[in-house]
Amino acid sequence: MASIFTRIIQGEIPCHKIAENDHCIAFMDINPVAKGHVLVVPKEETDYFFDLEDETLAQLMSFAKPIAKAIEKVVPCERIGVTILGLEVPHAHIHLIPLDKRGTISFANKLNMSKEELQKLAKEITSNI
Ligand code: 5GP
Repeated sequence: MASIFTRIIQGEIPCHKIAENDHCIAFMDINPVAKGHVLVVPKEETDYFFDLEDETLAQLMSFAKPIAKAIEKVVPCERIGVTILGLEVPHAHIHLIPLDKRGTISFANKLNMSKEELQKLAKEITSNI
C-alpha cells in the first residue's frame, strides 16, 4: 500500500505545498512542532532514510537548502534544524524546523495550527524561495 506521502505526491491527499521538482516535494507538517515546520520528501518511496541512493540524498539536500533559507526569512529563528525520525511515516523524509537560540524542540509537543495558518505560512515560504 502506498505511503501517506506517496498519496500526497500523487495528489490523492491534500497538503500545504511549498515546492516540488521531478525528484522531491516539500510541504508543511500537518502537526508542526514549531511554526514553519516543513517536511522534505523524495518522491521515490523508500522507508528507511539510509537506504536512499546517494544521488537521491544529494537531490534531497540540494532541494531542501533554498527552502530552509526561505523559512528563515519568514519565521524568526536562530537557524533551521534538520531532523530525521521516520518513526511515524515509512517514507524517508527530513524535517526542517526553525530553532530558537536554545535550539530546543520537543517532538512530544505539537502546535495547534489551523489549516488557514499553515496555508498562509506555506505561501509566504514559497514566495521567499
Ligand atoms: P516521522 O515519520 O519522521 O516520525 O514523522 C512524520 C511526520 O509527518 C510527523 O511530524 C507528522 O506530523 C507528519 N505527518 C503525518 N501525516 C501527515 C500528513 O498526512 N500530512 C502532513 N502534511 N504531515 C503528516
